[in-house]
Amino acid sequence: MHSTVRELFAGNDRHVEAVCETFDELQAAQHPEVVTVCCGDSRVLQDDMWDNHQPGRIFTHSNIGNRVVQETNASRVVTGDVLYPLVHTETHTAIVVGHTGCGAVTAAYRDLTEGIEEPVGIEYCVHLLEHDLEPGVEALPDGLDETQAVNRLVEYNVDRQVDHLVTSEHVPENVTIVGVVYDFQDVYTPRRGCATVVNVDGTRETETLRDQHPEIADRVRRLWEY
Ligand SMILES: [Zn+2]
Repeated sequence: MHSTVRELFAGNDRHVEAVCETFDELQAAQHPEVVTVCCGDSRVLQDDMWDNHQPGRIFTHSNIGNRVVQETNASRVVTGDVLYPLVHTETHTAIVVGHTGCGAVTAAYRDLTEGIEEPVGIEYCVHLLEHDLEPGVEALPDGLDETQAVNRLVEYNVDRQVDHLVTSEHVPENVTIVGVVYDFQDVYTPRRGCATVVNVDGTRETETLRDQHPEIADRVRRLWEY
């Protein structure tokens, strides 16, 4: 067996020690406080970024590009992976987590600007992102290099995923939806690993966000007002 697998199981033994007793109250049901939708990127630790080690607290979903929609034969809808806790486990907060330097956003940007070839499964994911990002690519300020363009589109993508949740007829009215960008490239602040708030319930004007949510005002920042 590859040493990685052995090391992972050793880690699981430590995990068992840490969580064993916390399942007493959770064996029959879950009522997570929040669902997070994160890019699957290995540099973004979906529970650790909130310092969460408590089973039952965060319902996690990840995919490349932190998308909340899927395509059915009829339409684009909020994916069941995200809807499930909002509809079935009394979860009233959803957080969309994008991140600086996102490879999926980069792929969508390159495909929209120069065209790329990918296996059909990846193409499907990138295509879903492109649908949301195309107007953003057109609206980008002139003179940006690719890194700068991608990081603005990361923010734009979080906005679009928040919008999908805000406008979905299937997401309950009382759900609060927060959009953040996780930064390990010193783009927003030098605090690598910091989650910056860019959107709450579809509002993205920074002054409005700070006024409406003073408790998180110091975390509100944007790269791109458009
Ligand atoms: Zn990513």
